[in-house]
Amino acid sequence: MLRRGLLIGGVESDDGEMGPVLDPSTGAMVAEVARATAKDVERAVEVAHRAFEQATWSRTPPPARGRILARVAALISERREDLARLESRQAGKPISAARGEIGAVARTFEYYAGAVDKFGGQTIPGGADGTLLTFREPVGVCGIITPWNFPMVILGWKLAPALAMGNSVVVKPASATPLTALALADICAEAGVPAGVVNVVPGPGSIAGDALVGHPLVRKISFTGSTAVGADVMRIAAPDIKRVSLELGGKSANVVFADANLDDCVQSSVFGAYDNTGQDCCSRSRILVERSVFDEFVERFTARAGTLVVGPTDEEDTELGPLISNGHRDSVEDYVRIGEQEGATLVCGAERPGGALSAGSYLTPAVFVDVRPDMRIMQHEIFGPVVAIVPFDGEDEAVSLANDSIYGLSGSLWTRDIGRALRVARRIETGMISINTSSSVHIEAPFGGVKRSGVGREQGMVALEHYSELKSVFIANN
Ligand code: NAD
Repeated sequence: MLRRGLLIGGVESDDGEMGPVLDPSTGAMVAEVARATAKDVERAVEVAHRAFEQATWSRTPPPARGRILARVAALISERREDLARLESRQAGKPISAARGEIGAVARTFEYYAGAVDKFGGQTIPGGADGTLLTFREPVGVCGIITPWNFPMVILGWKLAPALAMGNSVVVKPASATPLTALALADICAEAGVPAGVVNVVPGPGSIAGDALVGHPLVRKISFTGSTAVGADVMRIAAPDIKRVSLELGGKSANVVFADANLDDCVQSSVFGAYDNTGQDCCSRSRILVERSVFDEFVERFTARAGTLVVGPTDEEDTELGPLISNGHRDSVEDYVRIGEQEGATLVCGAERPGGALSAGSYLTPAVFVDVRPDMRIMQHEIFGPVVAIVPFDGEDEAVSLANDSIYGLSGSLWTRDIGRALRVARRIETGMISINTSSSVHIEAPFGGVKRSGVGREQGMVALEHYSELKSVFIANN
């Protein structure tokens, strides 16, 4: 049985309270992992702070930092299969999906390895009395808090730019999925990141997470998780005026116009709705379809959803794994009941498969029609394999339905009319929107939401701004 401790200052300690990590596809225990107390987190922050003050990393010349990050990328690629198996087991991901995610983490480190020596300050045209310059300084100790749905991918989005800019970090992974965060910290150490720069403190959010957010030596918090906890994080960070970036919940719209290529659209929309068993902040769980093609779309979408392979996570052709836990499946099933009680029609899915899958937290993909915009299944983030398909008439109604949400993370629209595509893309209140595809993630482009989906952007060069402070320097001519 795998046993992992806290990683603080390059030393692993597992002499305190331990918690189980379960495989959601079988319910079996995969590992035992230490649960940090508030005192442990305090120690980790102090160690990270000391490492930052000693400046072995922050003053490492950018090209050398870049080479170390490139080594991290290479080690991730080398160990892709082992890391994918670990991620698959703790998060209940189909192995093929997990492999893709580990590849994406390597690409993230590769991207920021190349960015380190290309992102800096400016000389600014000013008066004749001197010279104006800006520098990009590291922030200091950054607290990183991650969710369980894409454990290593999301950690990579935060850790790589934080390290690129010379910061020290304390990572608090989700309790259900701490194993790949610990493995990534091991890889950073092996690649040459000095001890104390990357620390990992798994543990309950309300204890370890709060202690990290509230610690006065933590200068920045980067959080991905639910909107409710994000609001708490903002409140706890407020007294110290900490820098906060938040990637939160979503309820993204997939807008299908009648002129769309329905073959591509159906295929991609099924993926966009049910990828990661719907446990995806960018899941397009509200599908809005122009009335003239509504019936055809529902029929084809439902047929394709019914052919998705729900199966054991270690089988190569499995497309849908389990939900993260039985408790989370209960909450998704509650929403299915609420949808029916409020008058929507369940066309298919929301069943627990039997046989070999009955020990896991599985649920088959569900489709609702006859849905009104005010129903809870249209407004709440269910975070499971449940979609609502709703008809619309014309562009204005499509935009108003898409914007009828407290969230604004992602979304898609499908049309062959480029003018309409751009017009509607600009009118939908969202941080990201894809045209004629359901994919949202490109490491080179900013990722993040508006409204209650968050503040700040990850990925792309813009992420480096969040992990650095701009300092202005004026040199007088005397
Ligand atoms: P969560 O908010 O329950 O937990 C996220 C992290 O916060 C975990 O590490 C948890 O232990 C920690 N935490 C919990 N309470 C805390 C507290 N009081 N103080 C500090 N930390 C605390 O979210 P989850 O259930 O792990 O993940 C699902 C949510 O994450 C969904 O809402 C999803 O949309 C969102 N998400 C957003 C994005 C994005 O990029 N916008 C990406 C993935 C997931």
